[in-house]
Amino acid sequence: MELNNENYFSTENQMQYMGASQFGAFLKCEAAALADLDGTYPRKVTDALLVGSYVDAYYEGTLDKFKAEHPEILTQKGELKAQYKHADEIIQRAERDEMFKKYMSGEKQVIFTGKIAGIPYKIKVDSYHPDKCIVDLKCVKDFDSVWDGKNKTRKNFIEHWGYLRQAAIYQEIVRQNTGKVLPFYIAAITKEPEPNIEIIYIPDEYLVDALKQVEEFSPRFNMIKHGEIKPERCGGCDYCKFTKVLKEPFNYADMTTAEAFEDV
Ligand SMILES: [Zn+2]
Repeated sequence: MELNNENYFSTENQMQYMGASQFGAFLKCEAAALADLDGTYPRKVTDALLVGSYVDAYYEGTLDKFKAEHPEILTQKGELKAQYKHADEIIQRAERDEMFKKYMSGEKQVIFTGKIAGIPYKIKVDSYHPDKCIVDLKCVKDFDSVWDGKNKTRKNFIEHWGYLRQAAIYQEIVRQNTGKVLPFYIAAITKEPEPNIEIIYIPDEYLVDALKQVEEFSPRFNMIKHGEIKPERCGGCDYCKFTKVLKEPFNYADMTTAEAFEDV
């Protein structure tokens, strides 16, 4: 069946195709990613996620539909809850900038499919300018760097949230469909009380390693999806906590950091 905006995230299509966020989920915790896919532990929809979806829906031109499908964003009086009123302000801030508007004026939610390392991929471009560029809209907390506990280092928010990987996947799948390597831009807005905006260009050289990583791990993740190999547990995420089974007491002598329990 042809992919469209209605069935893009259906279980069937999530199983058939890998996508940028699905790849990121597997990279974070294979066991949790699989449990999300097979419905045993679906990803929680937080307010922060829903505010992002609200802004996405505005740019898709589907805000009325979104409001109808999410009555939880309204108060009992039928007014928007504070965080969604703020989402409206975020949108107005971005709409006030001519350059932001221009980058977001492409064809909306354009779907492409292709293959990376032999694995079927699907992408959905927020604002596609044929022959010119690929633009992805991101509504983030702020533009500050983020602490990466696993690698004990701070990373800029683009790298931390896997946007280089997403850019590499999008550029490659668009190339397979059009024969053109198009520049990738992020149209970013923050959820700060005074929203910040930026159009961020990611030079192609930053996407080389990201694409290599996607090529390296896609076959493994696909095998996990189809039950051919068992997923690894990260030990620290909500799913791993929820399914943790104690086997023996933890020896305090081995406790060096707050993350000590994670590898048990
Ligand atoms: Zn985990």
